[in-house]
Amino acid sequence: MIAPATRDRLEALLGEAVRFDEPLARHTSLRVGGPADVLARPADRATLAALLAMADEAALPITFLGKGFNTLVRDGGVAGVVVQLSGLRAIATEGDDAIRAEAGVSHSQVTRFCSERGLAGLEFAAGIPGTVGGWLAMNAGIGEREMVDVVREVELAGPGAAPLRRVGREALRFRYRAVDGLEPGTAFVSALFEVSPGTPEAVRAEVERLLARRAATQPLDVPSCGSVFKNPPGDHAGRLIEAAGLKGERLGGAEISSVHANFIANRGDASAADVLALIDRARRRIAEATGIDLETEVHVIGREA
Ligand SMILES: Cc1cc2nc3c(=O)[nH]c(=O)nc-3n(C[C@H](O)[C@H](O)[C@H](O)COP(=O)(O)OP(=O)(O)OC[C@H]3O[C@@H](n4cnc5c(N)ncnc54)[C@H](O)[C@@H]3O)c2cc1C
Repeated sequence: MIAPATRDRLEALLGEAVRFDEPLARHTSLRVGGPADVLARPADRATLAALLAMADEAALPITFLGKGFNTLVRDGGVAGVVVQLSGLRAIATEGDDAIRAEAGVSHSQVTRFCSERGLAGLEFAAGIPGTVGGWLAMNAGIGEREMVDVVREVELAGPGAAPLRRVGREALRFRYRAVDGLEPGTAFVSALFEVSPGTPEAVRAEVERLLARRAATQPLDVPSCGSVFKNPPGDHAGRLIEAAGLKGERLGGAEISSVHANFIANRGDASAADVLALIDRARRRIAEATGIDLETEVHVIGREA
């Protein structure tokens, strides 16, 4: 519950860019989960800083959300303020070997920008759906290439009233699908990515090759959150799930994809509880069969219904 005075202050700060009790199923690719007490989309850095300070003062928890392509919201929704930086969408070159992109820039915006200018280096991320903020927080990647390989510097904000600051890649501890060492409540505001001059034709050809490979191996036509589990060292979560005979396994409206076993699809009427129970079932079966305790890649947020 948001106190009426806090609600008034949020409305005064954000105007149309704040919603209350906003269903997060609308803002995540799995299309499940309850509402955010507050969904805020600050239009610029000053509003973001004021919002973080206000939330700190009112002891409201802050959760950042990109486009929700790797987020599973529980059915009871999320307490406090969910912040989407979708208002920060600038992208520009810096010199001839870097681009700066704000946190709300989408994967397709980056791909279009680089393809049109023949800037090489980020083709691997073309099919990783989401935003620059989500890419950074997840150290998103494919195979051997991930964000840490292309990020030169990031701009951070918060927590609380802490100022905006730029830090080099070496100051952050990127690891497999995570970044360590950031205080909770810290936002990625922008990133400086390294690129190298190429040709639009070559960049497009590499993007198309990778997208075609993805389309052949992933269920891209159903709501999902991408990989549910991280790959354990030396193996693939999808292989283990398939070997355990779980492909096609259903629970309520959730189904382990028969195209790619590390994806769970929402067949249309899944609840977060269905998805979570199926995740649990897969984890238990793999542990029983192999002794491996799979760790989730998808970020689970919010409260039980
Ligand atoms: C079909 C499909 C295919 C996928 N393929 C891949 C793949 O090949 N490789 C891969 O790595 N991932 C993959 N994913 C997962 C997903 O695309 C990535 O994790 C992506 O980085 C998520 O971006 P997002 O903006 O949607 O993040 P969200 O899901 O919105 O958020 C993810 C995490 O980032 C945090 N976050 C978001 N924005 C910010 C910010 N500005 N500041 C601080 N924290 C923030 C959130 O709090 C959350 O913890 C796939 C997903 C789908 C649905």
